[in-house]
Amino acid sequence: MENTKLEELKKLAQEHIQNAKDTNALNDIRVKYLGKKGEITTMLKAMKDLSPEERPKFGQMVNAIREQIETELNQQMTELQEKAKEVRMAAETIDVTLPAKKMAYGHAHPNTRALEEVEKIFVGMGYEVVEGPEVEYDENNFEKLNIPAGHPARDEQDTFYINNNILLRTQTSSVQARVMEQGKLPIRMICPGRVFRSDAVDATHSPSFHQIEGLVIDKHVTFADLKGTLDKFAKELFGPDTKTKLRPHHFPFTEPSAEVDVSCFKCGGKGCRFCKGEGWIEILGCGMVHPHVLEMCGIDPNVYQGFAFGVGLERIALLKYEIDDMRLLYENDTRFLSQF
Ligand SMILES: [Zn+2]
Repeated sequence: MENTKLEELKKLAQEHIQNAKDTNALNDIRVKYLGKKGEITTMLKAMKDLSPEERPKFGQMVNAIREQIETELNQQMTELQEKAKEVRMAAETIDVTLPAKKMAYGHAHPNTRALEEVEKIFVGMGYEVVEGPEVEYDENNFEKLNIPAGHPARDEQDTFYINNNILLRTQTSSVQARVMEQGKLPIRMICPGRVFRSDAVDATHSPSFHQIEGLVIDKHVTFADLKGTLDKFAKELFGPDTKTKLRPHHFPFTEPSAEVDVSCFKCGGKGCRFCKGEGWIEILGCGMVHPHVLEMCGIDPNVYQGFAFGVGLERIALLKYEIDDMRLLYENDTRFLSQF
């Protein structure tokens, strides 16, 4: 009776072992049959109910089965471990003959490239690159630049006000006041940065764009220095044959003031579609710093003079890379950006 039961138990265990799917299942089987409370172990404990003559024979049988199950468990364990290893190896295999994955290269934004070029030119001429806050006092953005409250120039620059006294700067000229008030003379700086105006978006306008402000304050600075500097700048940026032309203009913070045109670098000045047949392209505004501005910022206009200029960064990028719509610069469309 006991023998049949033992045989059945062995068969069942063997079946379980063969069907085990992984090593965890095998460990469970080991516990189920050979563990402290396992079924084979329980059988051995039942030996005490047998007669002394039967005991050794029964013991031998149970031990033989125990050993056999143990062996089969170990074999199956090795097999399953090998299989798992093979699967893992297959997943981790690297086929060195496969073609490499193509790396996606990033591109510097046209604005960034234009800014780097402009900075390089002026740093080469001994200018310092200075930054200022985008949220600015009315005083620095308007008052100290000779644009008091009620001045018509304020209407030309639709301003985002935070409160009566604080605004989003409409021009990088606001940094002029900050630098001059520090009182370290002479000054030779450019200030690139973002400016804000409540304009609607179209091909040439955006509520947020970039300017590069330039300021030089020293003794014996003349309009000829300004002209020479901008000549050099234009030649470096658009090519050695580029000519500059100054047209009288008006800005409240410079006197005299001028707008600067460069000869069209596409047609050399003959007139083409790019320069709308003019032969000239407007690139910036400039002038001698108004004595009143110097005074308000604590600099004696009888000793010091200076010039200032302001360039639209987008304007440079559009010209330089022949882009015809400013909106393209802000849309972050990679099909457009990847061309640069
Ligand atoms: Zn042209």
